[in-house]
Amino acid sequence: MDECPRCRGSIEELSLGDVSTVTCPHCGFADIPAEHQPHGEEPESWRDAFNRFYEE
Ligand SMILES: [Zn+2]
Repeated sequence: MDECPRCRGSIEELSLGDVSTVTCPHCGFADIPAEHQPHGEEPESWRDAFNRFYEE
């Protein structure tokens, strides 16, 4: 996957530890695979980490 399904712009692949995902810098689309979220971990903590990574 290298094309944004929302705006068809080029997307970027990000890796956070063992998890990789793709984001679109053009429209803000983010494909976060739920299957990679470990059980018991709060979704908010993942979002915080992701947002912090994306903003830098
Ligand atoms: Zn996009």
